[in-house]
Amino acid sequence: MGTVYDTIIVGGGLVGAALACGIAARGRLVAVVDGDDRDFRASRGNFGLVWVQGKGAGFPAYARWTAMAAKYWPDFECELRETTGIDFGFRQNGGYDFCLDQVEWVARSEEMSLVQQHTRGEFEYEMLDNTELKRRIPQVSGDVFGASYSDHDGHVNPLYLLRALHQRMQKLGCRYYPNQRVISTRPKNGSFIVKTSSDRYQAKQIVLCAGLDNQRLAHELGMHIPVHPIRGQLLITERVESFLPCASLPVRQTMEGTLQIGNSHENVGFDDSTTLDVITRLAARAVRIFPHLSGVRLVRAWGALRVMTPDGVPIYHRSAHYPGAYAISCHSGVTLTSLHAGVVADWVCDDAIDALIAEFSAERFDVSNTSLRV
Ligand SMILES: Cc1cc2nc3c(=O)[nH]c(=O)nc-3n(C[C@H](O)[C@H](O)[C@H](O)COP(=O)(O)OP(=O)(O)OC[C@H]3O[C@@H](n4cnc5c(N)ncnc54)[C@H](O)[C@@H]3O)c2cc1C
Repeated sequence: MGTVYDTIIVGGGLVGAALACGIAARGRLVAVVDGDDRDFRASRGNFGLVWVQGKGAGFPAYARWTAMAAKYWPDFECELRETTGIDFGFRQNGGYDFCLDQVEWVARSEEMSLVQQHTRGEFEYEMLDNTELKRRIPQVSGDVFGASYSDHDGHVNPLYLLRALHQRMQKLGCRYYPNQRVISTRPKNGSFIVKTSSDRYQAKQIVLCAGLDNQRLAHELGMHIPVHPIRGQLLITERVESFLPCASLPVRQTMEGTLQIGNSHENVGFDDSTTLDVITRLAARAVRIFPHLSGVRLVRAWGALRVMTPDGVPIYHRSAHYPGAYAISCHSGVTLTSLHAGVVADWVCDDAIDALIAEFSAERFDVSNTSLRV
């Protein structure tokens, strides 16, 4: 065991790695104790959007949180790219979400308006009809009713982003321990002991960022962190000529020229396989929006599990029983990376109660909490 770290982060996905960068940059001695490829790892299977549209329509603090993340992204990207030399393809040049009929368009319009109200006008968007949409993207089908559009949205290559975060955290002096699945954690005399099958680690603080394993690990530290898997299937096509000016929810063009098509939401438990019916449905929707894609070949498909909370909103929780123990679970871990490496790292380091972060405590799921949202 030997070294007593300031902070141990359990899990080296996008959330744990971003937080490790932020905490190590503040001069703390950090260890990231990570699992292996047999774990479910949303950070390696996601769609790569930095997305604000619609986020927090039913939870005002989340709308403000996401808008803040998008605003911090350009500076965050610049620093991470310059300090690692890795271009992870960040483009924040807007995003479209298409509406196939008027019902979808009206519902989207209401959702966008709520997000704008929650962010006190900071979130800006447009609702476009088919004529305006076709003027901007001529390949869109005449059958598409319209779309929402926002300048705040963008996308990245999430795998390069993860690589950059890992490189950065290690440059900042953070120790990274892969293939060390944590079996148990326990408090001991004001510190925490973390046990894997082959080692033990000790720290004054512990932050659980273990994705879908957070619920089990948190339980040992007296925290209730309810998370469940929601599968998403994604497709990749062969390279095609550029036609999309920016990202969109069902289709984005990668920096290599392939198209990434998503994005199902399936409640199927811990099953990350692919299914022909969903692949067919996703491809058909993409072709319905962009008929010229009908001859394009798919080259790959995969499934991955989202780390979903009961209300879809992130959890940033500090243990009431054991000061120094934290848990973070979220389903928009790409979008929120800029905050995890910034204000969330401040929150963990300074032990100060940030008014906005406090809204994301898991106490909202406590049935004895009278302020529980419905
Ligand atoms: C299909 C899909 C599409 C998505 N699209 C987007 C998107 O477009 N934009 C966006 O913002 N977000 C998106 N997301 C969500 C985003 O990917 C996740 O929010 C984010 O990756 C969560 O990161 P994480 O680090 O919490 O979890 P994970 O990536 O699951 O990482 C957890 C880490 O903890 C490790 N671990 C697990 N158990 C243990 C243990 N016991 N001991 C030690 N280590 C352990 C694992 O090995 C892993 O490295 C998508 C997710 C999916 C599945």
